[in-house]
Amino acid sequence: MTFQAAAWRKHFPLLANHPRLHYLDNAATGQLCEAAFDAVTHHELTHRANVLRGTYRLAELADSAYENARQQVAKYLNAASDAEVVFTAGTTASINLVAHAFGEGLKAGDEVLLSLAEHHSNFVPWQMLRERRGVTLRILPLTTEGRLDLARLGDFITPRCRLVAVTHASNVTGAITDLVPVVAAARAVGARVLLDGAQAVQHGPVDVAALGADFYAFSGHKAFGPSGVGVLWGKAEALAALPPFLGGGGMIGRVGAEQTTYALPPRRFEAGTPPIAQAIGLGAALDWLREQPWTALNAHTARLAQRLIDGLAVLPGLTFIGPRDMRERLPIVAFDLPGIHPHDICQVLDERGVAVRGGHHCAQPLMDFFGVQGAVRASIAPYNDEADIDALLEGMRDVIRRLT
Ligand code: PLP
Repeated sequence: MTFQAAAWRKHFPLLANHPRLHYLDNAATGQLCEAAFDAVTHHELTHRANVLRGTYRLAELADSAYENARQQVAKYLNAASDAEVVFTAGTTASINLVAHAFGEGLKAGDEVLLSLAEHHSNFVPWQMLRERRGVTLRILPLTTEGRLDLARLGDFITPRCRLVAVTHASNVTGAITDLVPVVAAARAVGARVLLDGAQAVQHGPVDVAALGADFYAFSGHKAFGPSGVGVLWGKAEALAALPPFLGGGGMIGRVGAEQTTYALPPRRFEAGTPPIAQAIGLGAALDWLREQPWTALNAHTARLAQRLIDGLAVLPGLTFIGPRDMRERLPIVAFDLPGIHPHDICQVLDERGVAVRGGHHCAQPLMDFFGVQGAVRASIAPYNDEADIDALLEGMRDVIRRLT
């Protein structure tokens, strides 16, 4: 185990409780870091109260912890202001928020551009919007190895395009989208850009200012924070232009029996009691992550991914899903063993303490593109080490012996 992996592991209490577990399903959920765990416990033990309502001291402490979490998220994202950070229930909720609030202003004939590599949570809300508003969905095709085919952007972004909603990085292939041409093409026709950042946030701070998008969505549980919370970052003017999505307490200016005015963002989009402790835990996780040596950590996970790819490449009958080299991609490795169901492979691996995900990964259009029903996916975090990769490779040799 390298120094960094060993040191990192110590910050994740669950891993100490499962010393023989080879946890390689980090793209589904990262383990909760100690900083998040401590912040949630501290909040629950010392200042649990509802937020943005009470005037007593305990409630004020809760308010300031919640708003502090918003600032911590803003710093991780290099947002211009914490007012650009909306707490939601997760990536899915954030994308649905945009699909409703931004979608409200669209009409038949307006276009939304997606890509074939999207997670279902960046497909289905737009298909539902198409049902409601009659918008046209255009789907950017992929290169043979599963990257967005940017050479074809010009064919797919037309003057009727109002929104480009694409993944920052694929949860199946790990491919990182080259966003410069995407944002430029969207800007050229006056379209907004929404990025699905569910996977990217786990691998280091994100610079939304540099990315140039209008909206960025992610989930706390994938960023080593609590589940049940996520973020929609939006440029101040982009959020200000949106009507509310959910109505209720907390998002209002004044409610009369007949008419209501709405609060300014971000509160306009946080109807009802928010996930308070979870947001505080997420803020603490991101604050801790921000200080980590990401160049070294990402070099470590890329090395492990390459070791896995090289090890799998010499096994007979395996098909890779996605790019084989580590350029512009996250340490996520997906593969298929034709004729063997991914769940059966996962079962054999689980017997050996190797936790990987098998199935369609909520990306059925991408599975269709690769001509497979599903795939096995190993997703690597900095607390993983060579032993995790070797256990998976040994498990795959066992799978091939037993199942083929
Ligand atoms: N988008 C991507 C790329 C994902 O990987 C995921 C989760 O796997 C999601 C969206 C949905 O995230 P959540 O289920 O946390 O809302």
